[in-house]
Amino acid sequence: MQQFIDSYDFTGKKAIVRVDFNVPLNENFEITDDTRIRRAMPTLKKVLEKGGSLIIMSHLGRPKKVDPKFSLKHIVGRVSECLGVPVQFAEDCMKADEQAAALKPGEALLLENLRYYAEEEGKPRGLAEDATDEEKKAAKKAVKESQKEFVKKLASYADCYINDAFGTAHRAHGSTALIAEYFPNDKMFGYLMEGEIKAIDNVLKNAQRPFTAIIGGSKVSSKLAVLKNLVGKVDNLIIGGGMGFTFVKAQGGKIGDSLHEDDLMPDALEILKEAKAKGVNISLSVATKAGREFSNDTESKVFDIFNIPDGWEGMDASPESLEIWKKIILSSKTILWNGPVGVFEFPNFATGTLQIAEDLAEATANGAYTLVGGGDSVAAVTQMGYADKVSYVSTGGGAMLEAIEGKVLPGIAAIQD
Ligand code: AMP
Repeated sequence: MQQFIDSYDFTGKKAIVRVDFNVPLNENFEITDDTRIRRAMPTLKKVLEKGGSLIIMSHLGRPKKVDPKFSLKHIVGRVSECLGVPVQFAEDCMKADEQAAALKPGEALLLENLRYYAEEEGKPRGLAEDATDEEKKAAKKAVKESQKEFVKKLASYADCYINDAFGTAHRAHGSTALIAEYFPNDKMFGYLMEGEIKAIDNVLKNAQRPFTAIIGGSKVSSKLAVLKNLVGKVDNLIIGGGMGFTFVKAQGGKIGDSLHEDDLMPDALEILKEAKAKGVNISLSVATKAGREFSNDTESKVFDIFNIPDGWEGMDASPESLEIWKKIILSSKTILWNGPVGVFEFPNFATGTLQIAEDLAEATANGAYTLVGGGDSVAAVTQMGYADKVSYVSTGGGAMLEAIEGKVLPGIAAIQD
């Protein structure tokens, strides 16, 4: 049965908490952005305040074996600073029995990188390139078997389990999902997870109408499932960025040298057809600011989106398109944004993405619910200083994308089951 941090009695209990401390480190192993550590603090502090102790676990990077580059020891100092208590460190997440047992209320222990063990992800490692299917199958079976022991060991350290790692909620890994089984009556989400789940529900289950989704980014292929799921839910679907050109070409437009995926054109037409049948307004940009080449300082010119000459590639939404989108955004009560509407990394082609961020801030101030989720749009609102002017900024790129696709995330299901 699912529990809740606020009502759970942590007195004298040891909580094993899966967090996402996968922070960027520079070549001196210094943290360059500690957002993920800070976002986990409300949950971790709450457990300590309520008389519990902490066993904190995370992955860092993608090590395929024990590799000091990916050691969580690099971040112990910062975690201690943020938490306000000295955090102990277990150099091997499978050999922390004594340290965990010795923890007193108010104390915290950080386990070494879970991904030093193949069992965390449950995928075989070190297979020869020419391994036969039989060998691959056997290796997979073996790691799945040893994964049970791995998970059981982690669970043995604690009395209750908290998952606060939204960034890995779409993975059915040992620490993100499988471990929950050992805590049938003592498992719960951390505050960050609760916030993310509520944000997803606010748009996918309880959206106030009109509901508008703005989907941008480079490729239709990476967001096809998102578009297909949303087309059945929204009132307006704004499609911007590179992916828009596949929709234009599919309808017979001339897109010059703009990014596009020919093999996705049938899917684009299918989405347009479905939107029409359902009365959903799909809004592509009407014109684009195009460049001669893919660089910030290239010559640029605005063209009708259906008539881009060869030798030019569309790289940002035009002012006229942004006016249309602004009207749609400001008349919506729920807005979901995923993906930039232009090559926002180039300042000369960032106007559209910046304008969307501004429009979302204005809509939020007017009372709309606005969720920004998934990789680059999060980077864009943060860089542009709008992160605290929208209702919610998701911490999980891939996880948010899968949630918007309508998938059940294993990390969420494991707690709610
Ligand atoms: P995604 O990871 O699919 O959300 O895509 C984000 C990337 O799409 C960013 O790096 C943008 O620069 C890129 N992008 C957006 N619009 C365009 C465009 N018109 N042409 C090429 N790349 C684009």
